[in-house]
Amino acid sequence: MSRLRVHVLALGGTIATRPDAGGVMQMGAGADDLVAAVPLLKELADIEAETVSRVGSHSLSFDDIHAVAGKIAATAADAVIVTQGTDTLEETGFLLDLLVKRDIPVIVTAAMRNPALTSADGPGNLLAAVRVAGDPWIRRHTRSLGVMAVMLDEVHAVADVIKAHPTRIDAFASPQTGPIAALVEDRVVPLGLPVRDAIEVARQALDKVSGEARPVALLWMGLDEPGGLIEAILAAPDRLGYRGVVVAAMGGGHVPERLAPLAGRLAAALPTVVAARAGGGPLLRHTYGGASSEIALLEAGLIWGGRLHPLKARVLLETCLRAGLDRAAIARVFAAWG
Ligand code: GLU
Repeated sequence: MSRLRVHVLALGGTIATRPDAGGVMQMGAGADDLVAAVPLLKELADIEAETVSRVGSHSLSFDDIHAVAGKIAATAADAVIVTQGTDTLEETGFLLDLLVKRDIPVIVTAAMRNPALTSADGPGNLLAAVRVAGDPWIRRHTRSLGVMAVMLDEVHAVADVIKAHPTRIDAFASPQTGPIAALVEDRVVPLGLPVRDAIEVARQALDKVSGEARPVALLWMGLDEPGGLIEAILAAPDRLGYRGVVVAAMGGGHVPERLAPLAGRLAAALPTVVAARAGGGPLLRHTYGGASSEIALLEAGLIWGGRLHPLKARVLLETCLRAGLDRAAIARVFAAWG
């Protein structure tokens, strides 16, 4: 390949903050600033730096990420690096993986330690992302790798990565699978290819995603949950504006017993997906009996989210609804996750 061309799309986040007069970090830096802060990048690639927004990722929308996917679809570069806040990277990256249909490396990166701190990690993460983008193993396997997250010298598949700590520099992990590669010195060390059968099923079903936002509620089950939010959704003629629900269920797919009838009514009213509140991981299908068991909830019409983390199940359900999939098609997409 001739000299690597990388398109950097900067959305904001800690990586793009600056201290204000009071010493408090504010969003401010653009893509040019991020690139200029790492002089070595010039030796590795020609960089097109584009500032898309300057917001915290806690304020990004599904529409924002659809717009980013549009920019990736149109780029002439050999690779795209999206910089953003860490707070929602596990969701935005997964949405990009569902939407982007390009055979070029697409990498999401960010920073946990802001630029005013000693050992800020943003510059190193951006440099690592460019090294990953140009690495021959990565480029050979681009289609098999999907969208990647590069944080702290590790490469993760975005379907598996989660933000597992709010402040530590090593906040990102892929608990079910581990990282797919590590960066050592100036090279990429491959560790494994992600299993992408389920995401390919989703990508095919989501061939034409368009339309308006389809808000999905995330209901996290806790000890002795009384179910008031489910009742409120069922009682409201407009379902409080929600078009689907993800229930972050206990264990292998359980809710408190008194919620079982409500969960069934919810599933009849709106596509309702069950995912493991343990942080993803395969759900049971036929081990426990009883009114609130996985067997009963499946019979009541709840859609099984497989090994998806509840946050990723919510992203997938919103995207399925946006694509106009009916309940049966949605269930088929989720069934692929095991
Ligand atoms: N909450 C902000 C964001 O996600 C800052 C967190 C971060 O970037 O680490 O953009």
